[in-house]
Amino acid sequence: MEVQERRTYTAVIGLEFHVHLATTTKMFCGCRVTYGEPPNTHTCPVCLGHPGALPVTNEKAVELGVMAGLALNCDVAERVVFARKNYFYPDLPKGYQISQYDEPICTGGHLDVLTSEGRIRVGITRLHLEEDAAKNVHVGTSGRMHGSVGSLIDFNRGGTPLMEIVTEPDIPSPEAARATANQLKEILRAVGVSEADMEKGQLRCDANVSIRNPDGSFGTKTELKNMNSFRFVERGLVRELERQREILESGGRVEQTTLHYDPETDEVHELRSKEYAHDYRYFPEPDLLPLELSPAYVRELGAQLPELPDQMLARFTRQYGLSEYDAGVLTADRDLAAFYEAVAAEVDPKQASNWISGDLRALLNETGMDISDSRVTPGHMIELIELVGSGKVSRSAARTVLGKVFETGDSPSAVVEREGLASVGSDELSGVVDEAISANPDEAERVRNGDKKVVGFLVGQVMKATRGNADGGRVRELLMEKLGS
Ligand code: ADP
Ligand code: ZN
Ligand code: MG
Repeated sequence: MEVQERRTYTAVIGLEFHVHLATTTKMFCGCRVTYGEPPNTHTCPVCLGHPGALPVTNEKAVELGVMAGLALNCDVAERVVFARKNYFYPDLPKGYQISQYDEPICTGGHLDVLTSEGRIRVGITRLHLEEDAAKNVHVGTSGRMHGSVGSLIDFNRGGTPLMEIVTEPDIPSPEAARATANQLKEILRAVGVSEADMEKGQLRCDANVSIRNPDGSFGTKTELKNMNSFRFVERGLVRELERQREILESGGRVEQTTLHYDPETDEVHELRSKEYAHDYRYFPEPDLLPLELSPAYVRELGAQLPELPDQMLARFTRQYGLSEYDAGVLTADRDLAAFYEAVAAEVDPKQASNWISGDLRALLNETGMDISDSRVTPGHMIELIELVGSGKVSRSAARTVLGKVFETGDSPSAVVEREGLASVGSDELSGVVDEAISANPDEAERVRNGDKKVVGFLVGQVMKATRGNADGGRVRELLMEKLGS
């Protein structure tokens, strides 16, 4: 029989983000940036694209772009040129979008991301500023263009400041893509560049994905467009990698296309390629002077950056004596980090880390909740850790208690009381240990004769008798004492 060498399928992923900047006014006019207001109530000749109306660059948007770039370890350009990106679409009244092309505001950065396979570094190719298009509202049953009876345009969104961030194709898996997106979101929020609320469409993500050729070179990529949830980014990539793999396994070739992932059916559909034809005929925007960003200006903005996730991670290892892994888990989510710090201020920081990055995070993951939605407060966590520390609740019972606190929002002591989860007192425990010894004379004898392996069995009997409400280590000690071993 012929032995065929098995091909490995290695994913290559690069992400592109569009982020709404947290400015009060639009990119090139004074109209307010709003969400959910009546259509076409925040417009002017500039953002409606009337002929002859002149754009003026929003200084705050430039400032936020520089700060985002610095937070992502980028080089900030001293000279930035705006460019016209020409295309026709009803949501773009000028017939071009003002963007940046070959002289973007920031280049060459990176961000470090914690994945289940360790930390990876994802290069940031570029970051640039542009204006958003208006919003098409498709009228009809589904709200999508397909099957609608007509389209209306809301220019409130037209001209709002947008930042595009492009990563290098450094991301090795769908899970890592989701972690990268999350990490980016945390950084943008920390810096105050954007609220990055995905439900409001303030952060959108396109994912480029391919499978490496057997010789290690890049394969043909496809692009999943416009995903507004990181969970869908991950699922869409899993699905698309499956599709590409099936094509390759059946001897076919992947075509470079643009796709849409439908989370409802878990399928990818091809978008009409014409809509995304890349012939924008960029040229420099004649109505705007290039931006000049002096090193002093950039330094000044750099000094205003808050503590970033990387720096926080380093501080957590130093200040609380945590492993890099635990510190990474806690600082990957700013709210979780704040929760942790509130708890670690009151109890042993390592215990706090074990409970929060372990048990509590597992509960959050299971339910798909964020710490901010959870009913568990830092006060609850402190109380729980103190109950364990003082021996009032065993470690295993405390897990049950946490589960109930998580469900109900009741305090740990109330749960302990209600569910009868208090540890068995030491006199009582001594009695239970004695009973276990007399009920199992053969095993007890073997322990007396030095057979340590049997101790575990007796510990188990005691734990069973106390319904787990005893400290396993203490039970073992008591058994050894009593059996003189
Ligand atoms: P395009 O010319 O299609 O815009 P770019 O080279 O500018 O392609 O890259 C766009 C995005 O695609 C970037 O995020 C980049 O990291 C990613 N990318 C480039 N090549 C690949 C590839 N072979 N597989 C996956 N992603 C890729
Ligand atoms: Zn306007
Ligand atoms: Mg490109």
